Amino acid sequence: MPVLVMKFGGTSVATLDRIRRAAKRVGVEVAKGYDVIVIVSAMAGETNKLVGYVDETSPLYDAREYDAVVSSGENVTAGLMALTLQEMDVPARSWQGWQVPVKTTSAHSQARIEDIVPDNIRAKFAEGMRVAVVAGFQGVSPEGRITTLGRGGSDTTAVAFAAAFQAERCDIYTDVDGVYTTDPRICDKARKLDRIAFEEMLELASLGAKVLQTRSVELAMRYNVKLRVLSSFEEQSDTAGTLVCAEEDIMESKVVNGVAYSRDEAKMTLVSVADRPGIAAAIFGPLSEAGVNVDMIIQNISEEGRTDMTFSCPTDQVARAEKALHDAKARGEINFHDLIADTNVAKVSAVGIGMRSQSGVAARMFKTLSDEGINIKVIATSEIKISVLIDRKYMELAVQALHDAFALEKTG
Ligand code: ASP
Ligand code: MG
Repeated sequence: MPVLVMKFGGTSVATLDRIRRAAKRVGVEVAKGYDVIVIVSAMAGETNKLVGYVDETSPLYDAREYDAVVSSGENVTAGLMALTLQEMDVPARSWQGWQVPVKTTSAHSQARIEDIVPDNIRAKFAEGMRVAVVAGFQGVSPEGRITTLGRGGSDTTAVAFAAAFQAERCDIYTDVDGVYTTDPRICDKARKLDRIAFEEMLELASLGAKVLQTRSVELAMRYNVKLRVLSSFEEQSDTAGTLVCAEEDIMESKVVNGVAYSRDEAKMTLVSVADRPGIAAAIFGPLSEAGVNVDMIIQNISEEGRTDMTFSCPTDQVARAEKALHDAKARGEINFHDLIADTNVAKVSAVGIGMRSQSGVAARMFKTLSDEGINIKVIATSEIKISVLIDRKYMELAVQALHDAFALEKTG
């Protein structure tokens, strides 16, 4: 029988009543003839509560025990979902990650899935079980210890199962009804997209549109898993939500399909560093070792052998970045006159696969911002994305103006 993966996020399993509603949706797909793999998150708020327990008990916690505690929320919902389905006469069984097994690396609290062994679940399907309820977000390390996949990791569990079982589709039930052209909370003209390409979703996810864990989109792209994001609070239908799919499955695409933003960006400038071979390596090596996620980088032209180097990173990594750079300076590896951190910036990005074949997108974006009197501090581009850093106070204005400029509210 064809397999469908259905993932229910925390708000969709927040109460026994909602678990029952979710189970009914599963029942509908079972009745259509699918064997269903249900991936569940912990009940809303539960994972945060567990993380809080760990922090309070042991601020410098052992990551293995963090995983032992934090993975437990999903165990509860998996068992409850299986029981609910059984009450509805749907043959169902729950599975924790290690029971499947979902084999992961041993990078506790941010492990990656290496392999899913489908045999146990397949054998049960063959015996007549119709639903395998799997605890999301967790797996087992080569050492046999429980691991977790990073916050939001159940999305990745779901996609990995869809790939391993060659599922027809992977439906991600959440509290929003799809992927929007931008955040509806800051732009009331935001429009729900029927389809979006993997590459675009990847940019949007990593740019702060928090609907899906980035890793899950990467996996879906690699294994060409059709991924659908939809609300568990809406009527059930085959076309609801947004389909995240390969570019070829999208008939028509605008040049820009989404405007994303990220509030917590910081801009750091090293003033007057010696411009010599190896200087970038000497700066960004220590930053990477300190775990700083550098995003945009610009190096100014140099004057008399010295230049300014500017980069952006998440605001909460500024202190770590400062320490890494001052330490490198103390070791004599780099030499700068000043280190300036600007934490009042935001990143705004226009994303669209159509950019590959159309010119003038950057010009239109810059003109739009200039018409609003918004100064651009840093620019970065990729094949399908243009990002700018601007003063944070203009962020919402910029998003709205760009949404208008690229005619994102109009359909067709
Ligand atoms: N419960 C985990 C979290 O809150 C994993 C997930 O729901 O995706 O991050
Ligand atoms: Mg989530």
